[in-house]
Amino acid sequence: MKYVVALGSNLGDRSQILESALEEIGNVSEIIKVSSFYETAPVGGPDQPDYMNAIVIIDSQLSPEDLLLSLQSIENKAGRTREVRWGARTLDLDLISAGDLKVESEFLTLPHPRAHERGFVLQPWLEIDADAEIVGKGRISELLAAIVG
Ligand code: ATP
Ligand code: MG
Ligand code: MG
Repeated sequence: MKYVVALGSNLGDRSQILESALEEIGNVSEIIKVSSFYETAPVGGPDQPDYMNAIVIIDSQLSPEDLLLSLQSIENKAGRTREVRWGARTLDLDLISAGDLKVESEFLTLPHPRAHERGFVLQPWLEIDADAEIVGKGRISELLAAIVG
């Protein structure tokens, strides 16, 4: 199954942390395409440093739940802690979409419920898949245009 994963880091050597995360993702799945790295201002949460963000499209044999578990273990290895909601973090790996699949459980929601309103997700994603859509929300090009105006 083809998955879209968002990477973000705003603590430590951000680019190096994203590079290492991509390598680890590549150990469990086939990497199809990686976006450039984008420096972005934090959205929501407390005052915190700017982020480095990227999007990777992968092909994985893992179920969505097992992929999320695997992403969480990569976050933990990067020293991810969760003290404050939307606070600063060494690494955030979010599962954005899995084609047209919809999932709604306590552990996993697909598509990611906030992806459609986040420039730091839509911009890098558009770079590597101009025709992409978020099921139920529409084309990412239009979603991005709606938030940047
Ligand atoms: P946001 O979800 O707004 O980007 P966050 O990434 O900071 O916030 P986390 O602390 O990384 O939030 O994750 C909180 C919980 O979200 C996790 O326990 C995870 O089970 C759940 N979750 C639900 N859907 C997803 C998804 N599509 N991708 C990643 N985590 C998800
Ligand atoms: Mg997140
Ligand atoms: Mg997360």
